[in-house]
Amino acid sequence: MIQRYELNDLIRADNFIDGKWVPAASGKRFAVTDPATGEVIAQVADSGPADARAATDAAARALPAWRDALPKERAAVLHRWHALIVENADALGRLISLEQGKPFAEGRGEVMYGASYVAWFAEEATRVYGDLIPQQQRGKRMSAVKEPIGIVAAITPWNFPLAMIARKIAPALAVGCTVVGKPAEDTPLTALALVMLAHEAGVPAGVLNLIGASRENAVDAVKDWLEDGRVRKITFTGSTPVGKYLARESAGTLKKLSLELGGNAPFIVFDDADLDAAVAGLMASKFRNGGQTCVCPNRVYVQASVYEKFADLLTQRVAALKVAPATDPDAQIGPMINARAVEKIGRHVSDAVQRGARVLTGGKPLAELGPNYYAPTVIADATPEMQLSCEETFGPVVPLFRFNDEAEVIRAANDTPFGLASYFYSQNVRRIDRVARRLETGLVGINEGAISSEAAPFGGVKESGYGREGSKYGLDDYLSIKYLCQGGLE
Ligand code: ADP
Repeated sequence: MIQRYELNDLIRADNFIDGKWVPAASGKRFAVTDPATGEVIAQVADSGPADARAATDAAARALPAWRDALPKERAAVLHRWHALIVENADALGRLISLEQGKPFAEGRGEVMYGASYVAWFAEEATRVYGDLIPQQQRGKRMSAVKEPIGIVAAITPWNFPLAMIARKIAPALAVGCTVVGKPAEDTPLTALALVMLAHEAGVPAGVLNLIGASRENAVDAVKDWLEDGRVRKITFTGSTPVGKYLARESAGTLKKLSLELGGNAPFIVFDDADLDAAVAGLMASKFRNGGQTCVCPNRVYVQASVYEKFADLLTQRVAALKVAPATDPDAQIGPMINARAVEKIGRHVSDAVQRGARVLTGGKPLAELGPNYYAPTVIADATPEMQLSCEETFGPVVPLFRFNDEAEVIRAANDTPFGLASYFYSQNVRRIDRVARRLETGLVGINEGAISSEAAPFGGVKESGYGREGSKYGLDDYLSIKYLCQGGLE
């Protein structure tokens, strides 16, 4: 019988270290609020270096036994964790909506998406093969085996409070690493609930440790991990400046890093595209989580001959989106995460308008709904010098750029330091092959806007980072290869 919890039973506000719930050593706490109303949901432990160190100590003690457990024993624990997450999908989905703001259907969808990584890596845990290398010299046997890298520090963002941490913890635990983690200060509660379920699933004390911290204290807490030689790997999802900082600051102990950083995804609509399919694909990929995802299209390029028609079709769909609190069953877009996010969106829109763009729908905050709402927006006549062309807007704003030919749009699409996702719509098979090869991104959606899957390798190129999450490649980031050479055999 798998335990099913109510939302309130899942709310934990302490750190989880060495199998126990403990307050921060300083006794400090910080408030986590509902972005729809600004009301305080919980006062979470506000950790510093002492708490980070205690987590690492526990992870170090737990490492030998977990590393030496049979893969199928670790897999069994992960399978139980998966079952608990799925059984509690409603309550976890509500918790995501409460602290992050996305509509409940999306929150529940995120739970199932995050759970799919746990199931995937439970299965992959038993398939970490090495190689017997063909003999090179008589009397010598050479082989390569894969070993867990050691203690992993996981640092995650607020936009997918469950999925981002699940897809880091699951592969780490699958191969026998132990974990210390810090979720984003806006949304620590879902991660703490996930850890509570992991403990119930049988993850041994010390194998998985999670600390909360305000933005202010996170820097010193995480710094302890960056400088501690026992922590062998950092896995991070977040902004490019913070990713670069982590790489720089951890260089002293030469850790392995996986960095899933910012994007600035182009979405290209060629004149030979099925326009209805392109609009549907853009709606699905752009407005998920209110436009607050790193794979969201940020720049939409439409070929001149279909520009006005596409803009009309899109504007009708965007104007009909229902913006409401996550608790409204019809909500399609909830509040943005915080006031800082709304301010950035507003800044991008007014900069575009000042430089000659036209607002086709939206273009303003929806203050009547609450503090953090912004209207879904379509902007026509966008140009490369506008801020929304160079930076991720991270909100429900679609800027439409006009282009004339394929070479021009590929140049424009690649003219960014980022390289996470790109999308394009065309029905010409030769063009599909050409464009897919030339786009400089880690992920490419071809006539498809919803591309994420636990079976696919997720990750970027250029300043969008390195490392891959999910798929058969996702374990490699948590493994090191050891070469064994045995002599004297003849
Ligand atoms: P966002 O802009 O989406 O908040 P960030 O990259 O700022 O993205 O944050 C992602 C994660 O990194 C969060 O958990 C945040 O607390 C953490 N973080 C941000 N700055 C630092 C820092 N200097 N040191 C350690 N962690 C940080």
